Amino acid sequence: MTMHRRLLVVAMVSCFPLAAATADAPPRAASSADQVSVLDCARLLDTAAGKMLGETTLVVEAGHIKEMHAGSLDAEPYRRAANAAGKPFRHIKMADATCMPGLIDSHTHLTSEFSKSTYSDRFRLNPADYAIRSTVYAKRTLLAGFTTVRNLGDDHNESIALRNAVNAGIVPGPHIFSAGQFIGTTGGHADPTNGYRWDLQGDPAPKDGIINSPADAWKAVRQHYKDGADLIKIMPSGGVLDEGTSAENPQMTLEEIKAVVTAAHDYGFTVAAHAHGAEGIRRAVLGGVDSIEHGTFMDAQDIKLMKEHGTWYVPTIIAGQFVMEKAKQGWFPPQVARKAEQVGPVIMATAGKAYKAGVKIAFGTDAGVYPHGENAKEFEYMVQAGMPAIFVLQAATTLRREEVRPDGSYPRAPALTSILPPRGR
Ligand SMILES: [Zn+2]
Repeated sequence: MTMHRRLLVVAMVSCFPLAAATADAPPRAASSADQVSVLDCARLLDTAAGKMLGETTLVVEAGHIKEMHAGSLDAEPYRRAANAAGKPFRHIKMADATCMPGLIDSHTHLTSEFSKSTYSDRFRLNPADYAIRSTVYAKRTLLAGFTTVRNLGDDHNESIALRNAVNAGIVPGPHIFSAGQFIGTTGGHADPTNGYRWDLQGDPAPKDGIINSPADAWKAVRQHYKDGADLIKIMPSGGVLDEGTSAENPQMTLEEIKAVVTAAHDYGFTVAAHAHGAEGIRRAVLGGVDSIEHGTFMDAQDIKLMKEHGTWYVPTIIAGQFVMEKAKQGWFPPQVARKAEQVGPVIMATAGKAYKAGVKIAFGTDAGVYPHGENAKEFEYMVQAGMPAIFVLQAATTLRREEVRPDGSYPRAPALTSILPPRGR
């Protein structure tokens, strides 16, 4: 384990005793939930103010930042007070590290990771196989510095079980806001039997996330409420990795989208919309969704509408880059490869255009399309797209809070949990 990785882990364990564990040890017992930690940081990046501060000391208790002091601090009084109260205490010295808020990835798929065998795995793996793998991906994501994610779709609600296990301290992972199953239409990007031979297709229904009317939309959202989802993910346009012919055709009517959004907002859910094509994006924004994911072929009218409606944009440039590379390496069936080559190169330019136009942008990566844990590469791509470095860090920390929860709140306050690599800069 490298020095950097160890520091990262130490900081996380100290801040999230229930949610985090070191790479070598099992999760801590619930008794350490009230741990008091004093963290000495060489520098602290205040993303809310957009400023790098000098030496800073944080006092963290039960996962919440209680005090923040400029310069160093005598930790002894805190040790004595913790001992007197019977609380565990740690003094963590990070003499050459920069502290910053835990990162938020607004678009992950923690229950799978794409590979050459993904299409045939569907016939060999059970939901339990995906659930077990998700615990590995969740830990990898946490150790990469991402302490909160929105999980935008799975096939069997495995990410709801994963969220519950993380919250209970059974497995280490980030705070997860789960959309449960995807919601889409027959033959569309979310149809779990897309591309199957006829006798295997069945007829997926609202309970499987497949809707074909506004009434179905209400039923699917209510099923998500029953299943314990935190938000809703819909598919108003075609997608790249399914076996349909188009990545950009509209796949939901305006009425279906409006029905999903109205139902979702009744239950306190936000709605994230996967959309590549200009028409799918337009309908999603007019239908009232809270965010557009990917947004590849966003046109001037879409940008204008998104600004008017205050719709968030989550570009996921890294996913576009990854599928474009893998298409050249023969990973996909021919029509998926064709779509990957069509979509991949466009997202970065779209992200730059949207930023310049003043669309609200949040950090999200589509993790699971590319290997989990490499989420931070998106920062580099966002800068290449023309966004300032401080802006992209804000997009992954302070900017998105209002969208993660409708009222801007977290179940637990975000603590400073990540050490920004490379150290010393
Ligand atoms: Zn996705």
